[in-house]
Amino acid sequence: MKQKTCVKRKANPANRRLEGKPLFRQPRTDYHLHPDYSIDAEPLPIMDYCRRAVELGLTEICFTTHAELDPVRKEIDNYVIFRGKTHPVRDKRWLDGYFSEIEAARDRLRGTGLRVKAGVEIGYDLGLEKEIESLLEGYPFDYVLCAVHCLDHVAISSMDESPRYFRHRPLHRLLEDYFKVLHSGVRTGLFHCVAHLDLYRRYGLHYYGPPILTEQRSALEPLLKDLAACGMGLEINTSGLRRGLRTFHPSREIVAMAVEAGVSIFTVGSDAHRLEELGSGIDEALQLLDEFGLQNHVFSGGRPVPAVEELVPAGKKSRR
Ligand SMILES: [Zn+2]
Ligand SMILES: [Zn+2]
Repeated sequence: MKQKTCVKRKANPANRRLEGKPLFRQPRTDYHLHPDYSIDAEPLPIMDYCRRAVELGLTEICFTTHAELDPVRKEIDNYVIFRGKTHPVRDKRWLDGYFSEIEAARDRLRGTGLRVKAGVEIGYDLGLEKEIESLLEGYPFDYVLCAVHCLDHVAISSMDESPRYFRHRPLHRLLEDYFKVLHSGVRTGLFHCVAHLDLYRRYGLHYYGPPILTEQRSALEPLLKDLAACGMGLEINTSGLRRGLRTFHPSREIVAMAVEAGVSIFTVGSDAHRLEELGSGIDEALQLLDEFGLQNHVFSGGRPVPAVEELVPAGKKSRR
């Protein structure tokens, strides 16, 4: 894949914000799933998630296994699980396995109505562009998520590691660092959507207290404007609900700011690392989109498409 700087796009009228409540029942999708290729997931194959998704009545799911590429953390997390063993993420044989398993699942699911997409969640950091390009090259990814898990090579997404980072930085430094890296990721043009935008809250809230919820405003506005201008998506990640935060990533306040900035492409994802997490919080996330008059989206070959299931006749209530 050739690296391209984010080209600012004109607003696509098909993706415009719906006025008032959507006329459509929002299809139930889950666009953030970690099967057994992810080193921190339960050892459950792709097909197991697919079967469960059919049982749950989801219309579309997207696998987004982790790819961490920071060479400083090579021995820590630059791995996937392939054929039951840890396997270096840069040795791309695992991608052949990943894509062929997804393809096989699509074949077996024909007739069930479930669509299955191939994605990846990349841990972005400054200077990793070439590594990312070379990982993605030659594989038909539908969806590439931009995630910032690490700052200064320390995983702020980890309960064990994050205090090592927090201990030496005041809150303003955390936010400056986080948004600098994320904004740079958005500008690379390598990604389709931002994952869990305010992930720093997961362990940072306990450490820094409530100011972490409000002090990010000045960094957020330009980021969200660029997200809108690039036609990138913003994920409503439901994992916060399972971790005692009582809110999605990002929070309702940030979703409101994103709408204000013109972001119109939203996806919903559980960030499931085990089977019982598949689809969890999805209905609540769709309800949030409904409240803002926003449409859920799916991706094909990197292109966002509004997810439309069926018209709800006037006067009839949606299932939710
Ligand atoms: Zn993540
Ligand atoms: Zn994830």
